[in-house]
Amino acid sequence: MKTAIYPGTFDPITLGHVDVVQRGLKLFDKIIIAVADSPKKSPMFDVQTRLDMVNATFAHESRIQTLSFDGLLVDLAQTHQATAILRGLRAASDFEYEFQLAAMNRKLDAELESVFVMAREEYTFVSSSFIREISSMGGDVNALIPDAVRAYLPKEKKA
Ligand code: ADP
Repeated sequence: MKTAIYPGTFDPITLGHVDVVQRGLKLFDKIIIAVADSPKKSPMFDVQTRLDMVNATFAHESRIQTLSFDGLLVDLAQTHQATAILRGLRAASDFEYEFQLAAMNRKLDAELESVFVMAREEYTFVSSSFIREISSMGGDVNALIPDAVRAYLPKEKKA
């Protein structure tokens, strides 16, 4: 049984994240979506709300487990017998940070492999920060987020 852990802030979860998870399910038997507390990022949603949105999005997927965490990712992976970290890559701009993160995690646990997937082209520009910004100004982001997330965001303004 191959288990991967997909860590992120998910503030909020987007269809880009969902696409990454769906690709991960082709590679692994089980995916643990780990919602990081990330206080340094001053998230818009508290960690429980972000976890609620992830849970609502994947309510019917038996191969997905969800949790929140605030410790070291490598410790969490060991506790749950995960052998890989799943991450998504959008543009070159993601690469530098992801490269450093993967190198650090490898230093901490040489057995834990980082695996990167690319979401569908139409989601390469989708980020949680854009979703937050556009929806806070009344823009319609419904095509970019899971249906379950709609109720958590400000209502879009009618044109
Ligand atoms: P973090 O704070 O760990 O970067 P995020 O929730 O922003 O958390 O992202 C989690 C992971 O999902 C990262 O690897 C990020 O690159 C990836 N990701 C986010 N949005 C997309 C997308 N639209 N396409 C592909 N990967 C994505």
